[in-house]
Amino acid sequence: MKNIAILGSTGSIGTQTLDIVRERGDIRVWALTAGKNVDLLEKQIREFHPKLAAVWQEKEAQKLRLMVRDLDVKVVSGMEGLIEAAVIPESDILVTAVVGMIGLRPTVAAIRAKKSIALANKETLVTAGHIIMPLAEEFRVQILPVDSEHSAIFQSLNGEAGNKISKILLTASGGPFRGRTKEQLAGMKVEDALKHPNWSMGRKITIDSATMINKGLEVMEARWLFGTDLNQIQVVIQPQSVIHSMVEYEDGSIIAQLGTPDMRLPIQYALYYPQRRPLSGRRLDFFSLGSITFEKPDLETFEGLKLAYEAASRGGNMPAILNAANERAVAKFLDYKINFMEITQIINDCMLHCAYKEQPDLDEILETEQAVYEWIESRW
Ligand code: NDP
Repeated sequence: MKNIAILGSTGSIGTQTLDIVRERGDIRVWALTAGKNVDLLEKQIREFHPKLAAVWQEKEAQKLRLMVRDLDVKVVSGMEGLIEAAVIPESDILVTAVVGMIGLRPTVAAIRAKKSIALANKETLVTAGHIIMPLAEEFRVQILPVDSEHSAIFQSLNGEAGNKISKILLTASGGPFRGRTKEQLAGMKVEDALKHPNWSMGRKITIDSATMINKGLEVMEARWLFGTDLNQIQVVIQPQSVIHSMVEYEDGSIIAQLGTPDMRLPIQYALYYPQRRPLSGRRLDFFSLGSITFEKPDLETFEGLKLAYEAASRGGNMPAILNAANERAVAKFLDYKINFMEITQIINDCMLHCAYKEQPDLDEILETEQAVYEWIESRW
C-alpha cells in the first residue's frame, strides 16, 4: 500500500494523480489540498476519505467544513494548512501539484519530515534548486520528477550510475505557435494560446508552452535535478510529443523514453518508482505515427526561452524574478489586460530592474516574488 498526500488535488496534475489512485486501488490518500475549488474538493473528500483537507482562504475553509460536516475530516487553511498536509505523518510521498512559488515552503517542510517528493511544481527547483537539492541530500529524500520530460530523463538514466553523460536532449512540442513569426505572435489571443496541439494541461502552463517559457523553466529544473551544467542541456523541438526527452552518454549512445502524451504515465512512475505498474490508455503506434521530426528552437521569435537561459546563467534570484514576472504577466494575459507579446516584455523589464541577489535564502526568494509583483503593479 502506498500512502500519499496531494497538494493541488483539484488541478490538472492533481486530478490525474487521483485517476491513478482510482485505477490502481493500492494507494491511500491522507491529505488533499486546493486553492478555492471547494466543490471539487468536497467530491474528492467523499470519494477518497483523506484525514486532512486544506484550502487557501479561511472563508473557503469554513464553507468546506459545513459541506463535509458529516465526515471525519479536518479542514485547515493558509500556508500552515498546506504545510500540515505536506507533513501529515501517515503519508510517505508528497505529490506537489500546486502551481506557483506557494509550493516552496511545504516542499521544504516535507523534505525535513523525510517524505519522498513526487515533484510536479516546477517553481520549486526553478527558484530554489540551490536550497532544495542539498536539503534532499541531507535528509536522504528522493525527488521523483513528475514533469514528463524530467521523468523521461530520469528513466533514461536508469542503470547507468557512474556512466558519464555528455548531454541532456530536452524535447519540446514547440507549443501552439510553433513556426509563427513575431508579427503573427503579436495578434494571438488567449483562446489561440490555450489550444495546445498535444497535451491537456492547466491554463498557466499551457500559456507558458505558447511563449516557450515553460521549456526555459524545464531547463532550469533539469539542471538541478540531474546536476548538469546549463550548456549540457539542449532543447530539441519534436512536434509530435512522443519522445519525451533523451540522454546522450560519452560514447555517443542516446537513450530516450517514448510514449503517447499522457501525464498519468510519469505521475504513476514517480509514485511506484522503481517499479512499473499496468496503466490503461492509448499505446504508441509507430505505423499510424508515420514519422518523428526535429527542429531547432527559434530563440529570436520565442524570446521567453532566451530570457530563461539568461536567468539560468545569471543564477541567484534571477530565476525567481523571471518566474514571478511570468506568473503575473500570464495572469494579466489570461485576464485580457495585456497582449501576448507583453508577457515577455514584462519579464524583460523585471529582469532589468528588480534587485539581484547572488545566494538568496528561502525568505529572500519569497521577498523577490513580492518585489516583482509590486514592480509590475506600479508599471503595467
Ligand atoms: P492547475 O492550475 O491545473 O492546478 C493548480 C492546483 O493548485 C489546483 O489544485 C489549485 O486549486 C491549486 N492552487 C492554486 N492556487 C493555490 C493557492 N493559493 N493555495 C493552494 N492551492 C492553490 O495546474 P497544473 O496541474 O497544470 O500544474 C501544477 C504544477 O505542475 C505547476 O507547477 C506546473 O508547472 C506543473 N506541471 C504541470 C503539468 C501538466 O501537465 N499540467 C506538467 C508538468 C508540470 P484550485 O483548483 O482551487 O484553484
